[in-house]
Amino acid sequence: MPKLYLSLGSNEGDREQLLRSAIDAIGLLIGPVDGISPFVETEPWGFESPHPFVNAALSVETSLPAMDVLERTQSIERQLGRRRKSIAGRYEDRPIDIDLLLYGDLVLTTERLTLPHPLLPERLFVLEPLAEIAPQILHPTLGKTIQTLRDELRLRLG
Ligand code: ADP
Ligand code: MG
Repeated sequence: MPKLYLSLGSNEGDREQLLRSAIDAIGLLIGPVDGISPFVETEPWGFESPHPFVNAALSVETSLPAMDVLERTQSIERQLGRRRKSIAGRYEDRPIDIDLLLYGDLVLTTERLTLPHPLLPERLFVLEPLAEIAPQILHPTLGKTIQTLRDELRLRLG
């Protein structure tokens, strides 16, 4: 079974509780959650907001195809109160965001789903928690480990 890695983020409401509820729902609807990173608090990235995020990364055992995973993560987002979608790359406060980071070695570009997540190498708030649970996993197109991508981005950001 391919290993699925997800990222979770919340900057609205009871952020830790929302992440825990998302993890429970993922376990029920997508498959057993076999790794949970520490929760980290981070500043909003790509938009201005006074509300910091709580982020985490998960690994999940799933037998579902990637598109079905996306449908279910989006349904969990709606259940947990997410109302709007980010439009044309504009970000805003949200009670929960669930992104698919990696799905085994799958490389996919469709209108609704891109894997690996295209911004994975640019986002320390994703790479830091992911490196806690999957440091040695290879990024299938960049050919570098998550730990290396994290270290390189740390250096770039100073
Ligand atoms: P963001 O996560 O960038 O803040 P959204 O959660 O609103 O924004 O997602 C916008 C769209 O991104 C979704 O409608 C989804 O179809 C698309 N998308 C493409 N690739 C992925 C991925 N790997 N994980 C999650 N969503 C993705
Ligand atoms: Mg998202």
